Amino acid sequence: MKEIIEHGKTLHEAKRRIAELEAENAALREKARCSWTEMDPENFPGSYETQCGHAWVFIDGDAAFNGAKFCPYCSGEIEVAPTPNT
Ligand SMILES: [Zn+2]
Repeated sequence: MKEIIEHGKTLHEAKRRIAELEAENAALREKARCSWTEMDPENFPGSYETQCGHAWVFIDGDAAFNGAKFCPYCSGEIEVAPTPNT
C-alpha cells in the first residue's frame, strides 16, 4: 500500500514537472519570435518596424520576397504582422 502511494506521488511530481517544462518551452518559443509590421506599404513597401524596437528596409520587395527568416537585431524568427488599416 505504502509503495502504491509512493508511486502515486512520483507520478504526480512527474506530471507537475512536465507541465512546468511545457510552459517554459512555450515562453521560450514566444520569445524566439519577432513580429514585423510594415510601416507604409502604400508609399514605402518593404519597410518594417520590428517588435524588438528597430526598423528594417528592403531595397526591393518585402520580407517574404527577400527570403528573410530571422530578425537581424534579436535573431527572433520573423513573423510579419497584418498591416494595420490606415
Ligand atoms: Zn527583432
